[in-house]
Amino acid sequence: MNVAPQDHADERERQQRWFAQLCDDLHRKHSADTDGHVATYIPELATVDPDRFAIAAVTLDGTRVAVGDVEQTFTIQSISKLLAYGLALEVHGRDRVLERVGVAPTGDRFNAIVLDDATNRAPNPMVNAGAIAIADLLSGPGVDDPVESMRAMYERYLGRRPEIDPDVWASERETGNRNRAIAYLMLSRGIIGPDVESTLDLYFAQCSVLVDVVDLATIGAIIANHGVHPVTGAQVVAREVTRDLLTIALTCGMYNYAGEWAYSVGIPAKSGVGGGIVGMLPGAGGLAAFSPRLDPIGNSVRGLRVFEELSAEFEMHLFDPDRPWHRTP
Ligand code: GLN
Repeated sequence: MNVAPQDHADERERQQRWFAQLCDDLHRKHSADTDGHVATYIPELATVDPDRFAIAAVTLDGTRVAVGDVEQTFTIQSISKLLAYGLALEVHGRDRVLERVGVAPTGDRFNAIVLDDATNRAPNPMVNAGAIAIADLLSGPGVDDPVESMRAMYERYLGRRPEIDPDVWASERETGNRNRAIAYLMLSRGIIGPDVESTLDLYFAQCSVLVDVVDLATIGAIIANHGVHPVTGAQVVAREVTRDLLTIALTCGMYNYAGEWAYSVGIPAKSGVGGGIVGMLPGAGGLAAFSPRLDPIGNSVRGLRVFEELSAEFEMHLFDPDRPWHRTP
């Protein structure tokens, strides 16, 4: 059956209006949710306003939807692990990265002091051990200023050199002894090099980068779009790397909730203890939520609910047979 181009445009506009309306409704509905607690593992994170709440989406044609506290910045935290992993794959190649960091999801907490004994690697790049091993690769010989290189990487995604929250960075450094324990264990096993403090400094800096919800949705859209920025058309991250990023996000992105998430939401995603969640929908765009109250696993409570409901209402699950962008017109 032939469908006139105008009908396609009308249908797309109708879908976009429906989606924007849904985001508004979900924001209103979940503003009343006060379940969960803000992260308190460092004093600075405990001072954020727990009621802040925002939802955003950026589609592959550059259309943007943003609701709530869209200008509120927060620290990106573990979402940085996905971007750092992409940079390591670009710079060092898959084989070298795979020597140190595996791709298996764990049932353990993100900050578990656990390595893969059989292969002598960090389990995956989304748990702290893996992210620290990645930071070690990115701060290795030949990199003059790893923190600046990391900020330059962010600049490709965000269109600006990001600020690093100095208090969070300092506080992570002062109180991050669990991460220090993970790093020294990896040093003892020969997984990372001896410059543990500068590796950790990079890891803490990448976690302390300030973003807003639209930044997260933009990051999601870029990765979903196989590395191409939907607005500028720039190749932000290598095309071949994005397949690995999407896979790891689907299998390991939501900590030890990843299995339930894949089952119920079905969108490759990454969360951080700052309260952000970014989702990446190949063929569609990026989706993000920000709300600082976390569940016991460390995922934003309102964020989870928003993603669950949007995915169900809009048939976003990757394997949903009725996923709209699967259908050929
Ligand atoms: N900076 C945090 C940590 O290292 C990041 C963890 C997270 O967002 N889950 O513990």
